[in-house]
Amino acid sequence: MIADKMVELVGNSSVIRAMFEEGKRLAGKYGAENVFDFSLGNPNVPAPKEVNEAIKSLVDEEESTVLHGYMSNSGYEDVRAAIAGSLNRRFGTSFDESNIIMTVGAAGGMNVFFKAVVNAGDEIMTFAPYFGEYRAYAANADGRLVVVPPETDTFQPNLDAFEKLITPKTKAVIVNTPNNPTGVVYSEETIRRMAQIMERKQKEYGNVIFLFSDEPYRELAYDGVNVPYLTKYYANTVVGYSYSKSLSLPGERIGYLVIPDELDDSATIKTACNVATRILGFVNAPSLMQKVIGKCVDVDISENIEIYNRNREALYNGLTGLGFKCIKPEGAFYLFVKTPVDDNEFCQKAKKYNILVVPGNTFGCAGFVRIAYCVSYDTIINSLPKFKELAEELGLAEQRGTL
Ligand code: PLP
Repeated sequence: MIADKMVELVGNSSVIRAMFEEGKRLAGKYGAENVFDFSLGNPNVPAPKEVNEAIKSLVDEEESTVLHGYMSNSGYEDVRAAIAGSLNRRFGTSFDESNIIMTVGAAGGMNVFFKAVVNAGDEIMTFAPYFGEYRAYAANADGRLVVVPPETDTFQPNLDAFEKLITPKTKAVIVNTPNNPTGVVYSEETIRRMAQIMERKQKEYGNVIFLFSDEPYRELAYDGVNVPYLTKYYANTVVGYSYSKSLSLPGERIGYLVIPDELDDSATIKTACNVATRILGFVNAPSLMQKVIGKCVDVDISENIEIYNRNREALYNGLTGLGFKCIKPEGAFYLFVKTPVDDNEFCQKAKKYNILVVPGNTFGCAGFVRIAYCVSYDTIINSLPKFKELAEELGLAEQRGTL
């Protein structure tokens, strides 16, 4: 018999993962080239060559007991110093190694931070549409996810609704920009307004409200768009970063938290995050991967971004040309497309054409589907005739302009 709390979590278990499994089943049946699996945000571009070179040289040159041994729960000091230096050069911040805690990806970092600061019944807010796993991460810390309804015209956060939903129990606010699933980048103006609201509410309630910036897609931004670095706008900001997407290393489970000195009770929170890293069973982030990151903090990934950009252009132009409606994403590698029928029904219809996409309700935003374009260019081009058949079945040509 499983724990009561797990019953619900298992019940809500990821639709995205289920789609991924379905993709593998269909590929076995029809051949991989005839299945258009846009379900999972699993980067298809290889990790930069510097990553493999770093692994080889580390294995050859580092002493094995150091390379594979335990280290402080926060991670290797030299690696954390290298990350702090890179952030300072790129964003004009002034971090050092004491501000960085190495984590088991973004998911690990978020769970560590919530374990460290959330009391049972505390509220963690986020903006729809949002990465569905946030609900489980909040539950892991006995918190409750409070969702701000979406602004579907722009997918910028709805700040009026946000302000009204903040309560004395609000402990943290998660933002994710560039965003999964919309690809929207929150503008500087949005961030400034959000910070003002949070300052005001902190004063009103006499509580600290943390801003948690979940940013696995920070570098994946197109057309030179500015992705503001949030610690500069609001003192109680914690950054959760991941190399899963930028360096195409999702299976390696490596990322970091930034805990600035300006954060209220910063030193105690760092200690609590270290202890949380240990008692959640991570103990520390994977040692070899930490050392790899130490050598790769400034690797140029512009070629990979260009590959995603080509996919973005082809898919956006292809789908909008067929009558589908969506915002042109400025970052990440997702398109969030409006559905003329219920989003679950859309996914079922798409499956008939061997197209796998994820319903918007998974992200707290029904009436849309997410299409992950971190796939090969050929998959995109070859899928367009199938999308055309789907558009015809849905009568999109006749509905143009009314969606
Ligand atoms: N946050 C968002 C918005 C994501 O899209 C993902 C993964 O897709 C994660 C967190 C988890 O990333 P990681 O693989 O680094 O744990």
